[in-house]
Amino acid sequence: MWTPEQIRAVPQHLLEWYRANARPMPWHEDADPYHLLVAATMLQQTQVETVLPYLERFLQRFPTATALAEADEEEVLRYWAGLGYYSRARNLHRAAQQIVQRYGGVVPCEAKVLRKLPGVGEYTAGAVASIACGKPEPALDANGYRILARLLAIEEDITRSAVRRKLWDACRQILPADVPGDFNQALMDLGATICTARAPRCLVCPLAGECLAFGQGRQGEIPVLPARRATEKVHDVCVAIQREERWLMVKREDGRLWRGMWEFPRTRLEGEETVEKAVRRLVARFGMSVQACESVTTVRHGVMHYAITLHVVKCRCSGGVLEASEGIRWVSLQEAQSLPLPSPMRRVVHVLIQQHRDGRKAAAG
Ligand code: SF4
Repeated sequence: MWTPEQIRAVPQHLLEWYRANARPMPWHEDADPYHLLVAATMLQQTQVETVLPYLERFLQRFPTATALAEADEEEVLRYWAGLGYYSRARNLHRAAQQIVQRYGGVVPCEAKVLRKLPGVGEYTAGAVASIACGKPEPALDANGYRILARLLAIEEDITRSAVRRKLWDACRQILPADVPGDFNQALMDLGATICTARAPRCLVCPLAGECLAFGQGRQGEIPVLPARRATEKVHDVCVAIQREERWLMVKREDGRLWRGMWEFPRTRLEGEETVEKAVRRLVARFGMSVQACESVTTVRHGVMHYAITLHVVKCRCSGGVLEASEGIRWVSLQEAQSLPLPSPMRRVVHVLIQQHRDGRKAAAG
């Protein structure tokens, strides 16, 4: 594990560096536990630069746990739309409801209490407890795991739970009890700017003298990660069905991906199936018939290990009655924009609005 030299020097050098180089964050001015809970939840799997504008907008609309608890899920998802990993938003919403029911709307400061809330794992609990409440709790994110594995030259797969446990224990040993929040943020900042995944800048690193991987010239080999799952290319089709000036949208109810969000009916192309056949299959599912179908655009996006090409077709409804109900809506394109939409679907709506405007201009001119 640590050498006595590392135990003394790592926190000292890291904090000296942090005091001169900390990235400005909104919670430096106002370390409210609820704000930290939202920020740490957004920061799971998403980078700071992406998170900050979403965080500001979200906290303006839901400034307290009570305000979030009282909102309906659809609105919460709408404010999260574009950040991805929507189960985080649903869990945060449920966590806020539990905070209101059990703790009178006040976010608890104890990591072990925080961990009982939906979606709150060790990292989020540690970040809230240390940064907002000054509790001596580690908060290791991907940056922290990487830095500690390099400092200690750990050659095992850092995604294994036994190895992660070892890294948490190691972090606990060097965590300064007086400034745990600064220490945790220093690790995150160092990982984001110096000890990066692909090209660590060891020559300017404040921990170079204590880093075993750098000492052995192995910073490029550590951390050890499992082999990446190969990307699979798939084709999806979505059909935007128009009835007068309204468009059919359906709510995703099943599966974990995008649950509770809205989209134009969508399906995966099966085997050698053509886009036209898939459109017919999709439309039949709703007991409708369509005409004047035309290709609108193609949207490429990635989800997990899938590289998805989404073929977008628009059609006019020519038969069948499908009334609005729970999970089914006929909306204008403007109304569609205010629904919680997955990012690819937001792009589709944008293209349809643009086409609509261009069509009107052409007709007028
Ligand atoms: S010396 Fe290099 S590998 Fe070690 S902590 Fe610093 S940047 Fe990372």
